[in-house]
Amino acid sequence: AEALGHFGLTLLIGKPESLPMRDINFLTENNAKPIWHPMAHPAEMRATPPKIIMKGEGVSVTDAEGRTVLDAVGGLWNVNLGYSCDPIKQAMAAQLDALPYYSGFRGTSTGPSIELAYELTEWFAPEGMVRAFFTSGGSDSVETALRLARQYWKIRGQGDRTKFLALKKGYHGTHFGGASVNGNANFRRNYEPLLPGVFHTPAPWTYRNPFDETDPAKLAKLCARAIEEEIAFQGADTIAAFIMEPVLGAGGVIVPHESFMPMVRAICHRHDILLIADEVVTGFGRTGAWAGSRLSGVKPDFMTIAKAITSGYFPLGATLIGAKVADVFEADKTSFGAIGHGYTYSGHPVGCAAGLAALAETKRLALNENAAARGVELGKALEALKAKHQLVGDVRYQGLMAALELVSDRAAKKPADKKTMAAVADAAYGAGVMLRVSGNTVILSPPLVISATDVAKIAEGLDVGLAAAAAA
Ligand code: PLP
Repeated sequence: AEALGHFGLTLLIGKPESLPMRDINFLTENNAKPIWHPMAHPAEMRATPPKIIMKGEGVSVTDAEGRTVLDAVGGLWNVNLGYSCDPIKQAMAAQLDALPYYSGFRGTSTGPSIELAYELTEWFAPEGMVRAFFTSGGSDSVETALRLARQYWKIRGQGDRTKFLALKKGYHGTHFGGASVNGNANFRRNYEPLLPGVFHTPAPWTYRNPFDETDPAKLAKLCARAIEEEIAFQGADTIAAFIMEPVLGAGGVIVPHESFMPMVRAICHRHDILLIADEVVTGFGRTGAWAGSRLSGVKPDFMTIAKAITSGYFPLGATLIGAKVADVFEADKTSFGAIGHGYTYSGHPVGCAAGLAALAETKRLALNENAAARGVELGKALEALKAKHQLVGDVRYQGLMAALELVSDRAAKKPADKKTMAAVADAAYGAGVMLRVSGNTVILSPPLVISATDVAKIAEGLDVGLAAAAAA
Protein backbone atom coordinates (compact mmCIF):
# COMPACT_ATOMS: atom_id res chain seq x y z
CA ALA A 1 0.00 0.00 0.00
CA GLU A 2 2.88 2.32 0.82
CA ALA A 3 4.57 1.78 -2.50
CA LEU A 4 1.34 2.32 -4.34
CA GLY A 5 0.73 5.43 -2.27
CA HIS A 6 4.16 6.66 -3.27
CA PHE A 7 2.91 6.64 -6.86
CA GLY A 8 -0.30 8.35 -5.89
CA LEU A 9 -2.27 5.21 -6.46
CA THR A 10 -3.71 4.58 -3.01
CA LEU A 11 -6.79 6.65 -3.73
CA LEU A 12 -6.92 5.44 -7.27
CA ILE A 13 -7.19 1.79 -6.39
CA GLY A 14 -9.52 2.18 -3.43
CA LYS A 15 -8.38 -0.47 -1.00
CA PRO A 16 -4.85 -1.36 -2.08
CA GLU A 17 -4.15 -3.29 1.12
CA SER A 18 -6.77 -5.84 0.07
CA LEU A 19 -5.30 -6.40 -3.38
CA PRO A 20 -3.03 -9.44 -3.75
CA MET A 21 -0.53 -7.36 -5.63
CA ARG A 22 3.12 -6.43 -5.27
CA ASP A 23 4.18 -2.83 -5.59
CA ILE A 24 4.10 -0.93 -8.83
CA ASN A 25 7.87 -1.19 -9.36
CA PHE A 26 7.60 -4.96 -9.32
CA LEU A 27 4.79 -4.89 -11.88
CA THR A 28 6.64 -2.48 -14.15
CA GLU A 29 9.90 -4.44 -13.94
CA ASN A 30 8.15 -7.70 -14.76
CA ASN A 31 5.74 -6.34 -17.33
CA ALA A 32 5.65 -8.73 -20.35
CA LYS A 33 8.49 -10.83 -18.91
CA PRO A 34 7.08 -13.95 -17.18
CA ILE A 35 3.87 -13.59 -19.16
CA TRP A 36 3.14 -14.15 -22.84
CA HIS A 37 0.24 -12.11 -24.15
CA PRO A 38 -2.44 -13.36 -26.54
CA MET A 39 -2.31 -12.01 -30.09
CA ALA A 40 1.13 -10.47 -29.62
CA HIS A 41 4.76 -11.24 -30.40
CA PRO A 42 6.58 -11.87 -27.09
CA ALA A 43 9.65 -9.90 -28.24
CA GLU A 44 7.53 -6.98 -29.33
CA MET A 45 5.76 -6.96 -25.97
CA ARG A 46 9.12 -6.81 -24.18
CA ALA A 47 10.25 -3.94 -26.37
CA THR A 48 7.00 -2.02 -25.96
CA PRO A 49 5.40 -3.31 -22.76
CA PRO A 50 1.62 -3.14 -22.56
CA LYS A 51 -0.19 -0.60 -20.39
CA ILE A 52 -0.91 -2.02 -16.95
CA ILE A 53 -4.57 -1.36 -16.24
CA MET A 54 -5.17 -0.93 -12.53
CA LYS A 55 -8.72 0.21 -12.11
CA GLY A 56 -12.00 0.58 -13.92
CA GLU A 57 -14.88 2.85 -13.08
CA GLY A 58 -17.95 3.66 -15.13
CA VAL A 59 -16.79 3.53 -18.74
CA SER A 60 -13.17 4.45 -18.01
CA VAL A 61 -10.03 2.63 -16.97
CA THR A 62 -6.91 3.91 -15.22
CA ASP A 63 -3.38 2.73 -15.91
CA ALA A 64 -0.41 2.33 -13.58
CA GLU A 65 0.78 5.83 -14.39
CA GLY A 66 -2.49 7.21 -13.16
CA ARG A 67 -3.93 8.12 -16.58
CA THR A 68 -7.67 7.62 -16.86
CA VAL A 69 -9.06 7.03 -20.34
CA LEU A 70 -12.48 6.34 -21.79
CA ASP A 71 -12.53 2.70 -22.83
CA ALA A 72 -13.75 2.75 -26.43
CA VAL A 73 -12.86 -0.95 -26.63
CA GLY A 74 -15.17 -2.08 -23.82
CA GLY A 75 -12.51 -4.47 -22.48
CA LEU A 76 -12.67 -6.76 -25.50
CA TRP A 77 -16.18 -6.18 -26.87
CA ASN A 78 -17.51 -7.51 -23.58
CA VAL A 79 -17.79 -4.97 -20.74
CA ASN A 80 -21.23 -3.82 -21.90
CA LEU A 81 -22.27 -2.60 -18.44
CA GLY A 82 -19.06 -0.73 -17.71
CA TYR A 83 -16.78 -1.33 -14.76
CA SER A 84 -19.03 -0.35 -11.85
CA CYS A 85 -21.94 -2.75 -12.07
CA ASP A 86 -22.59 -3.44 -8.38
CA PRO A 87 -25.40 -5.98 -8.93
CA ILE A 88 -22.98 -8.29 -10.77
CA LYS A 89 -20.28 -7.88 -8.12
CA GLN A 90 -22.76 -8.53 -5.32
CA ALA A 91 -24.25 -11.57 -7.04
CA MET A 92 -20.78 -13.03 -7.51
CA ALA A 93 -19.79 -12.35 -3.90
CA ALA A 94 -23.00 -13.94 -2.59
CA GLN A 95 -22.49 -17.01 -4.78
CA LEU A 96 -18.86 -17.31 -3.66
CA ASP A 97 -20.12 -17.38 -0.09
CA ALA A 98 -22.81 -19.96 -0.77
CA LEU A 99 -20.96 -22.26 -3.18
CA PRO A 100 -17.83 -21.20 -5.06
CA TYR A 101 -17.84 -24.23 -7.36
CA TYR A 102 -19.56 -27.42 -8.19
CA SER A 103 -19.47 -29.50 -11.33
CA GLY A 104 -22.24 -29.66 -13.89
CA PHE A 105 -21.14 -33.01 -15.27
CA ARG A 106 -23.77 -35.74 -15.12
CA GLY A 107 -25.02 -36.39 -11.63
CA THR A 108 -24.78 -32.86 -10.24
CA SER A 109 -25.98 -29.38 -11.08
CA THR A 110 -26.15 -25.96 -9.42
CA GLY A 111 -28.92 -23.41 -8.93
CA PRO A 112 -27.45 -20.50 -10.93
CA SER A 113 -26.74 -22.70 -13.96
CA ILE A 114 -30.31 -24.02 -14.08
CA GLU A 115 -31.68 -20.51 -13.63
CA LEU A 116 -29.41 -18.91 -16.24
CA ALA A 117 -30.18 -21.64 -18.80
CA TYR A 118 -33.87 -20.95 -18.20
CA GLU A 119 -33.40 -17.19 -18.62
CA LEU A 120 -31.24 -17.50 -21.74
CA THR A 121 -33.61 -19.84 -23.54
CA GLU A 122 -36.46 -17.41 -22.76
CA TRP A 123 -34.40 -14.42 -23.80
CA PHE A 124 -33.38 -15.97 -27.10
CA ALA A 125 -36.74 -17.64 -27.78
CA PRO A 126 -37.28 -15.32 -30.78
CA GLU A 127 -34.20 -17.01 -32.31
CA GLY A 128 -35.77 -20.40 -31.56
CA MET A 129 -33.30 -21.37 -28.85
CA VAL A 130 -34.53 -24.04 -26.43
CA ARG A 131 -31.44 -25.40 -24.63
CA ALA A 132 -28.16 -24.02 -23.25
CA PHE A 133 -24.80 -25.78 -22.91
CA PHE A 134 -22.41 -23.74 -20.77
CA THR A 135 -18.76 -23.16 -21.62
CA SER A 136 -15.88 -21.00 -20.37
CA GLY A 137 -15.86 -18.50 -23.26
CA GLY A 138 -16.37 -17.84 -26.93
CA SER A 139 -13.84 -20.29 -28.38
CA ASP A 140 -15.34 -23.06 -26.26
CA SER A 141 -18.83 -22.12 -27.41
CA VAL A 142 -17.80 -22.34 -31.07
CA GLU A 143 -16.03 -25.66 -30.48
CA THR A 144 -19.13 -26.98 -28.76
CA ALA A 145 -21.40 -25.94 -31.64
CA LEU A 146 -19.11 -27.52 -34.24
CA ARG A 147 -18.87 -30.76 -32.29
CA LEU A 148 -22.58 -30.98 -31.53
CA ALA A 149 -23.34 -30.26 -35.21
CA ARG A 150 -21.29 -33.28 -36.25
CA GLN A 151 -22.89 -35.39 -33.54
CA TYR A 152 -26.36 -34.34 -34.69
CA TRP A 153 -25.71 -35.84 -38.12
CA LYS A 154 -24.30 -39.04 -36.64
CA ILE A 155 -27.47 -39.46 -34.58
CA ARG A 156 -29.48 -38.95 -37.77
CA GLY A 157 -27.45 -41.65 -39.52
CA GLN A 158 -25.79 -39.20 -41.89
CA GLY A 159 -22.23 -39.50 -40.61
CA ASP A 160 -20.85 -38.25 -43.95
CA ARG A 161 -21.99 -34.76 -43.08
CA THR A 162 -18.76 -33.62 -41.45
CA LYS A 163 -17.69 -30.50 -43.37
CA PHE A 164 -18.09 -26.90 -42.32
CA LEU A 165 -18.59 -23.79 -44.42
CA ALA A 166 -17.67 -20.31 -43.19
CA LEU A 167 -17.04 -16.78 -44.42
CA LYS A 168 -13.65 -15.32 -45.25
CA LYS A 169 -12.87 -12.58 -42.67
CA GLY A 170 -14.97 -14.41 -40.08
CA TYR A 171 -13.51 -14.81 -36.58
CA HIS A 172 -14.54 -17.74 -34.44
CA GLY A 173 -11.95 -17.98 -31.68
CA THR A 174 -8.70 -19.88 -31.48
CA HIS A 175 -9.37 -23.53 -30.72
CA PHE A 176 -8.50 -25.87 -33.57
CA GLY A 177 -12.12 -26.04 -34.72
CA GLY A 178 -12.62 -22.29 -34.41
CA ALA A 179 -9.30 -21.52 -36.08
CA SER A 180 -10.28 -23.86 -38.91
CA VAL A 181 -13.48 -21.95 -39.61
CA ASN A 182 -11.70 -18.60 -39.10
CA GLY A 183 -11.41 -16.68 -42.32
CA ASN A 184 -8.24 -14.72 -41.65
CA ALA A 185 -4.75 -16.09 -42.38
CA ASN A 186 -3.25 -14.44 -39.27
CA PHE A 187 -5.02 -16.91 -37.03
CA ARG A 188 -4.41 -19.94 -39.22
CA ARG A 189 -1.02 -20.08 -40.88
CA ASN A 190 1.16 -20.93 -37.88
CA TYR A 191 -1.23 -23.59 -36.65
CA GLU A 192 -1.81 -25.57 -39.80
CA PRO A 193 -2.75 -28.25 -40.58
CA LEU A 194 -6.18 -27.35 -39.26
CA LEU A 195 -9.41 -29.33 -39.34
CA PRO A 196 -9.86 -30.90 -42.76
CA GLY A 197 -13.09 -30.33 -44.66
CA VAL A 198 -13.58 -26.61 -43.95
CA PHE A 199 -14.31 -24.27 -46.86
CA HIS A 200 -14.66 -20.50 -47.05
CA THR A 201 -16.71 -18.23 -49.27
CA PRO A 202 -16.38 -14.44 -49.74
CA ALA A 203 -17.64 -12.09 -47.05
CA PRO A 204 -20.18 -9.42 -48.03
CA TRP A 205 -17.57 -6.71 -47.55
CA THR A 206 -18.34 -3.78 -49.83
CA TYR A 207 -14.91 -2.12 -49.44
CA ARG A 208 -12.94 -5.13 -50.67
CA ASN A 209 -14.49 -8.13 -52.41
CA PRO A 210 -13.62 -10.36 -55.35
CA PHE A 211 -16.63 -9.12 -57.34
CA ASP A 212 -15.69 -5.41 -57.16
CA GLU A 213 -19.29 -4.83 -56.11
CA THR A 214 -19.99 -1.82 -53.89
CA ASP A 215 -23.77 -2.09 -53.69
CA PRO A 216 -24.53 -3.98 -50.44
CA ALA A 217 -27.71 -5.69 -51.67
CA LYS A 218 -26.12 -6.84 -54.93
CA LEU A 219 -23.01 -7.99 -53.08
CA ALA A 220 -25.16 -9.97 -50.63
CA LYS A 221 -26.68 -11.84 -53.58
CA LEU A 222 -23.29 -12.58 -55.10
CA CYS A 223 -21.95 -13.88 -51.79
CA ALA A 224 -25.07 -16.02 -51.30
CA ARG A 225 -24.60 -17.42 -54.79
CA ALA A 226 -20.98 -18.28 -53.94
CA ILE A 227 -22.26 -20.30 -50.98
CA GLU A 228 -24.70 -22.16 -53.24
CA GLU A 229 -21.86 -22.91 -55.65
CA GLU A 230 -19.61 -24.21 -52.88
CA ILE A 231 -22.39 -26.44 -51.58
CA ALA A 232 -22.99 -27.83 -55.06
CA PHE A 233 -19.23 -28.42 -55.46
CA GLN A 234 -18.79 -30.15 -52.08
CA GLY A 235 -22.12 -31.99 -52.10
CA ALA A 236 -24.72 -30.90 -49.56
CA ASP A 237 -24.76 -34.38 -48.05
CA THR A 238 -21.15 -33.89 -46.89
CA ILE A 239 -21.75 -30.60 -45.06
CA ALA A 240 -22.62 -30.46 -41.37
CA ALA A 241 -23.01 -26.72 -40.82
CA PHE A 242 -22.45 -23.19 -41.99
CA ILE A 243 -21.07 -20.78 -39.37
CA MET A 244 -21.22 -16.98 -39.54
CA GLU A 245 -21.26 -13.88 -37.39
CA PRO A 246 -24.39 -11.78 -38.09
CA VAL A 247 -22.03 -8.79 -38.13
CA LEU A 248 -18.39 -9.81 -38.63
CA GLY A 249 -16.52 -8.31 -35.68
CA ALA A 250 -12.82 -9.02 -35.38
CA GLY A 251 -12.52 -9.25 -39.18
CA GLY A 252 -13.14 -5.49 -39.23
CA VAL A 253 -16.83 -4.90 -38.43
CA ILE A 254 -18.18 -6.03 -41.77
CA VAL A 255 -21.91 -5.35 -41.76
CA PRO A 256 -23.75 -7.58 -44.25
CA HIS A 257 -26.80 -6.20 -46.03
CA GLU A 258 -29.95 -7.12 -44.11
CA SER A 259 -30.90 -9.55 -46.88
CA PHE A 260 -27.73 -11.63 -46.48
CA MET A 261 -28.35 -13.69 -43.35
CA PRO A 262 -31.95 -14.55 -44.41
CA MET A 263 -30.55 -15.75 -47.75
CA VAL A 264 -28.00 -17.90 -45.91
CA ARG A 265 -30.79 -19.26 -43.71
CA ALA A 266 -32.85 -20.16 -46.78
CA ILE A 267 -29.89 -21.85 -48.47
CA CYS A 268 -29.16 -23.88 -45.34
CA HIS A 269 -32.83 -24.90 -45.10
CA ARG A 270 -32.89 -25.92 -48.73
CA HIS A 271 -29.87 -28.20 -48.32
CA ASP A 272 -30.64 -29.30 -44.75
CA ILE A 273 -27.39 -27.72 -43.49
CA LEU A 274 -27.28 -26.49 -39.89
CA LEU A 275 -26.75 -22.77 -39.36
CA ILE A 276 -24.53 -21.67 -36.47
CA ALA A 277 -24.82 -17.96 -35.63
CA ASP A 278 -21.67 -16.92 -33.81
CA GLU A 279 -23.09 -14.22 -31.56
CA VAL A 280 -20.13 -14.01 -29.17
CA VAL A 281 -19.89 -10.28 -29.93
CA THR A 282 -23.34 -9.55 -31.31
CA GLY A 283 -25.38 -11.12 -28.50
CA PHE A 284 -26.87 -8.97 -25.73
CA GLY A 285 -27.53 -5.73 -27.58
CA ARG A 286 -24.26 -4.62 -29.12
CA THR A 287 -25.75 -4.29 -32.61
CA GLY A 288 -28.76 -2.34 -31.33
CA ALA A 289 -30.83 -5.54 -31.35
CA TRP A 290 -30.78 -8.14 -28.57
CA ALA A 291 -29.17 -10.60 -30.97
CA GLY A 292 -27.43 -10.10 -34.29
CA SER A 293 -29.75 -12.71 -35.82
CA ARG A 294 -32.72 -10.61 -34.68
CA LEU A 295 -31.57 -7.74 -36.89
CA SER A 296 -32.86 -9.72 -39.85
CA GLY A 297 -35.30 -12.07 -38.10
CA VAL A 298 -33.22 -15.22 -38.60
CA LYS A 299 -33.62 -18.36 -36.50
CA PRO A 300 -30.31 -20.26 -36.52
CA ASP A 301 -29.88 -23.85 -35.29
CA PHE A 302 -27.16 -22.92 -32.81
CA MET A 303 -26.11 -19.62 -31.27
CA THR A 304 -22.73 -19.20 -29.64
CA ILE A 305 -22.57 -16.54 -26.93
CA ALA A 306 -19.95 -15.38 -24.39
CA LYS A 307 -18.30 -12.01 -23.64
CA ALA A 308 -21.18 -9.74 -22.49
CA ILE A 309 -22.99 -12.71 -20.92
CA THR A 310 -21.27 -11.59 -17.67
CA SER A 311 -20.22 -8.17 -18.99
CA GLY A 312 -16.71 -9.62 -18.78
CA TYR A 313 -16.82 -10.03 -14.99
CA PHE A 314 -16.35 -13.81 -15.20
CA PRO A 315 -15.19 -16.10 -18.05
CA LEU A 316 -18.41 -17.73 -19.23
CA GLY A 317 -19.99 -18.70 -22.52
CA ALA A 318 -22.82 -20.82 -23.82
CA THR A 319 -23.87 -22.67 -26.92
CA LEU A 320 -27.60 -22.30 -27.38
CA ILE A 321 -29.42 -25.03 -29.22
CA GLY A 322 -32.52 -24.73 -31.40
CA ALA A 323 -35.49 -27.11 -31.33
CA LYS A 324 -34.58 -29.01 -34.51
CA VAL A 325 -31.25 -30.11 -33.01
CA ALA A 326 -32.53 -30.54 -29.46
CA ASP A 327 -35.36 -32.81 -30.59
CA VAL A 328 -32.98 -35.18 -32.38
CA PHE A 329 -30.63 -35.46 -29.38
CA GLU A 330 -33.43 -35.87 -26.87
CA ALA A 331 -35.35 -38.45 -28.91
CA ASP A 332 -32.22 -40.53 -29.58
CA LYS A 333 -32.44 -44.16 -28.49
CA THR A 334 -28.89 -45.10 -29.48
CA SER A 335 -25.62 -44.29 -27.73
CA PHE A 336 -24.96 -41.47 -30.22
CA GLY A 337 -27.03 -38.95 -28.25
CA ALA A 338 -24.81 -38.90 -25.13
CA ILE A 339 -22.75 -35.70 -25.11
CA GLY A 340 -19.08 -36.66 -24.79
CA HIS A 341 -18.05 -33.06 -24.50
CA GLY A 342 -17.82 -30.50 -21.71
CA TYR A 343 -15.60 -28.35 -19.53
CA THR A 344 -14.75 -28.42 -15.83
CA TYR A 345 -16.20 -24.92 -15.69
CA SER A 346 -19.35 -25.62 -17.75
CA GLY A 347 -22.10 -23.96 -15.71
CA HIS A 348 -19.75 -22.48 -13.11
CA PRO A 349 -22.08 -21.23 -10.36
CA VAL A 350 -20.22 -17.94 -9.83
CA GLY A 351 -20.16 -17.28 -13.58
CA CYS A 352 -23.84 -18.12 -13.91
CA ALA A 353 -24.69 -15.87 -10.94
CA ALA A 354 -22.75 -13.09 -12.70
CA GLY A 355 -24.65 -13.91 -15.90
CA LEU A 356 -28.04 -13.68 -14.20
CA ALA A 357 -27.20 -10.27 -12.72
CA ALA A 358 -25.72 -9.01 -16.00
CA LEU A 359 -28.78 -10.09 -17.95
CA ALA A 360 -31.13 -8.44 -15.45
CA GLU A 361 -29.17 -5.17 -15.63
CA THR A 362 -28.92 -5.34 -19.41
CA LYS A 363 -32.72 -5.68 -19.65
CA ARG A 364 -33.44 -3.07 -16.97
CA LEU A 365 -31.27 -0.49 -18.71
CA ALA A 366 -32.60 -1.45 -22.19
CA LEU A 367 -29.02 -1.46 -23.43
CA ASN A 368 -30.13 -2.42 -26.94
CA GLU A 369 -31.87 0.96 -27.21
CA ASN A 370 -28.85 2.86 -25.96
CA ALA A 371 -26.59 0.92 -28.33
CA ALA A 372 -28.87 1.83 -31.24
CA ALA A 373 -29.16 5.54 -30.31
CA ARG A 374 -25.47 6.03 -29.46
CA GLY A 375 -24.56 3.95 -32.51
CA VAL A 376 -26.31 6.43 -34.80
CA GLU A 377 -24.36 9.28 -33.19
CA LEU A 378 -21.11 7.37 -33.43
CA GLY A 379 -21.77 6.54 -37.10
CA LYS A 380 -22.34 10.21 -37.92
CA ALA A 381 -19.13 11.16 -36.15
CA LEU A 382 -17.19 8.49 -38.06
CA GLU A 383 -18.55 9.72 -41.41
CA ALA A 384 -17.40 13.24 -40.47
CA LEU A 385 -13.93 11.91 -39.62
CA LYS A 386 -13.79 10.15 -42.98
CA ALA A 387 -14.67 13.41 -44.73
CA LYS A 388 -11.95 15.21 -42.80
CA HIS A 389 -9.04 12.73 -42.79
CA GLN A 390 -7.55 11.22 -45.96
CA LEU A 391 -6.22 8.35 -43.84
CA VAL A 392 -9.73 6.98 -43.39
CA GLY A 393 -10.53 4.70 -46.32
CA ASP A 394 -13.77 3.27 -45.01
CA VAL A 395 -15.98 3.44 -41.93
CA ARG A 396 -18.37 0.69 -40.90
CA TYR A 397 -20.78 0.51 -37.98
CA GLN A 398 -23.81 -1.21 -36.57
CA GLY A 399 -25.04 -0.26 -33.11
CA LEU A 400 -21.99 0.10 -30.90
CA MET A 401 -19.59 -1.95 -32.98
CA ALA A 402 -17.64 0.15 -35.44
CA ALA A 403 -14.42 0.23 -37.44
CA LEU A 404 -12.30 2.71 -39.34
CA GLU A 405 -10.19 1.14 -42.04
CA LEU A 406 -7.10 3.28 -42.55
CA VAL A 407 -5.25 3.56 -45.86
CA SER A 408 -2.13 5.38 -46.98
CA ASP A 409 -3.63 5.88 -50.45
CA ARG A 410 -7.37 6.15 -50.83
CA ALA A 411 -7.51 5.42 -54.56
CA ALA A 412 -5.34 2.30 -54.27
CA LYS A 413 -6.89 1.36 -50.88
CA LYS A 414 -3.36 0.64 -49.67
CA PRO A 415 -3.57 -0.44 -46.01
CA ALA A 416 -1.97 1.98 -43.53
CA ASP A 417 1.24 0.62 -42.01
CA LYS A 418 1.87 -0.51 -38.44
CA LYS A 419 3.59 2.76 -37.50
CA THR A 420 0.61 4.82 -38.60
CA MET A 421 -1.80 2.60 -36.71
CA ALA A 422 0.30 2.85 -33.54
CA ALA A 423 0.50 6.63 -33.93
CA VAL A 424 -3.31 6.88 -34.09
CA ALA A 425 -3.79 4.74 -30.99
CA ASP A 426 -1.02 6.47 -29.01
CA ALA A 427 -2.23 9.99 -29.73
CA ALA A 428 -5.84 9.04 -28.98
CA TYR A 429 -4.68 7.54 -25.69
CA GLY A 430 -2.91 10.77 -24.88
CA ALA A 431 -6.20 12.54 -25.58
CA GLY A 432 -7.96 10.24 -23.11
CA VAL A 433 -9.43 7.51 -25.35
CA MET A 434 -8.41 3.84 -25.45
CA LEU A 435 -8.66 2.41 -28.98
CA ARG A 436 -7.92 -1.03 -30.35
CA VAL A 437 -5.99 -1.53 -33.52
CA SER A 438 -6.23 -4.72 -35.56
CA GLY A 439 -4.19 -4.74 -38.78
CA ASN A 440 -5.08 -1.50 -40.57
CA THR A 441 -8.40 -1.18 -38.75
CA VAL A 442 -9.34 0.76 -35.63
CA ILE A 443 -12.01 -1.18 -33.81
CA LEU A 444 -14.55 0.47 -31.52
CA SER A 445 -16.80 -1.47 -29.15
CA PRO A 446 -17.42 0.77 -26.14
CA PRO A 447 -19.55 -0.23 -23.16
CA LEU A 448 -23.24 -0.08 -24.08
CA VAL A 449 -23.87 2.28 -21.16
CA ILE A 450 -21.99 5.18 -22.79
CA SER A 451 -23.61 8.61 -23.07
CA ALA A 452 -23.79 11.04 -26.00
CA THR A 453 -20.96 12.99 -24.30
CA ASP A 454 -18.83 9.83 -24.27
CA VAL A 455 -19.49 9.33 -27.99
CA ALA A 456 -18.30 12.89 -28.65
CA LYS A 457 -15.19 12.20 -26.59
CA ILE A 458 -14.42 9.05 -28.60
CA ALA A 459 -14.77 11.06 -31.82
CA GLU A 460 -12.43 13.74 -30.44
CA GLY A 461 -9.86 11.12 -29.48
CA LEU A 462 -10.03 9.64 -32.99
CA ASP A 463 -9.71 13.11 -34.50
CA VAL A 464 -6.56 13.80 -32.47
CA GLY A 465 -5.17 10.35 -33.30
CA LEU A 466 -5.77 10.66 -37.04
CA ALA A 467 -4.30 14.17 -37.19
CA ALA A 468 -1.21 13.07 -35.26
CA ALA A 469 -0.67 10.04 -37.51
CA ALA A 470 -1.03 12.14 -40.64
CA ALA A 471 1.51 14.64 -39.31
CA ALA A 472 4.03 11.97 -38.25
N1 PLP B 1 -16.42 -15.81 -31.81
C1 PLP B 1 -16.39 -14.49 -32.05
C2 PLP B 1 -17.35 -13.92 -33.03
C3 PLP B 1 -15.49 -13.67 -31.38
O1 PLP B 1 -15.44 -12.35 -31.65
C4 PLP B 1 -14.63 -14.25 -30.43
C5 PLP B 1 -13.66 -13.42 -29.69
O2 PLP B 1 -13.45 -12.27 -29.98
C6 PLP B 1 -14.69 -15.63 -30.21
C7 PLP B 1 -15.60 -16.38 -30.92
C8 PLP B 1 -13.77 -16.28 -29.23
O3 PLP B 1 -14.11 -15.93 -27.94
P1 PLP B 1 -13.07 -16.10 -26.74
O4 PLP B 1 -11.97 -15.12 -27.01
O5 PLP B 1 -13.88 -15.77 -25.53
O6 PLP B 1 -12.60 -17.50 -26.74
